[in-house]
Amino acid sequence: MASEYPIDYYSLLDACASPGCPLCRLLLNGVERLLDSLLYERVNEAETQRAVRARRGLCNTHAWQMSRMTGNALGIAILYRAALDETLSAVKPLPPSRLGHVPGAPSQQERLRLADTLEPTEPCLACRLADDTERRTLGTLTRYLGDERLLAALRASYGLCLNHFRAALRQERRFAGMDVLIDIQRDIWGRLSAQLQEFIDKNDYRRMREPMGAESDSWQRALRALAGEAGAFGIDRSMG
Ligand SMILES: [Zn+2]
Ligand SMILES: [Zn+2]
Repeated sequence: MASEYPIDYYSLLDACASPGCPLCRLLLNGVERLLDSLLYERVNEAETQRAVRARRGLCNTHAWQMSRMTGNALGIAILYRAALDETLSAVKPLPPSRLGHVPGAPSQQERLRLADTLEPTEPCLACRLADDTERRTLGTLTRYLGDERLLAALRASYGLCLNHFRAALRQERRFAGMDVLIDIQRDIWGRLSAQLQEFIDKNDYRRMREPMGAESDSWQRALRALAGEAGAFGIDRSMG
């Protein structure tokens, strides 16, 4: 009975030890690796070029993540040349309408048709990967909810963000241990709520001289708990 755990199980344990929602953390790590390999290895591959053309680049979240994380301006230039050319080729001059109030102006129908042809025809590559990673990791999480080591790691973590807690609850597969997960979330959020109150109280002039403790970043942890980690929900994601 050597290691019978899948690799996702160990990734999940590691992610529990980092700040923020462990599932968000795994998505962010996965997307970062994807963007890196896109720029350094796959930028000229036909499939990459086709996908960025179809999406007209990446979604807002992931385009900016890529721009922040890399000094690879050439990779971005190659990807975005393809995406921009695709977009530009769709922008044709519109014929003037003979019916409108403004002489020579294109008809509303023509304008709407042009707007439609400028829509992406596929989701962002990074959003697609995040969806796959999320499905897989949620499966692993729920499969091992009876595993004491994973439960201990979850108890010591920031807990799942609200988006991922909902996603865990909505899993179709039947599994044991959901009651334990609910208890863990309740404990973590209950402690957080008490710390927020402590933070608010210590901002009162009568307690201002008292040093801050664990509650000092409670407002940030509350943001993370309800919104998820920054950038974990690209705008093409199917949930979030
Ligand atoms: Zn999350
Ligand atoms: Zn995206």
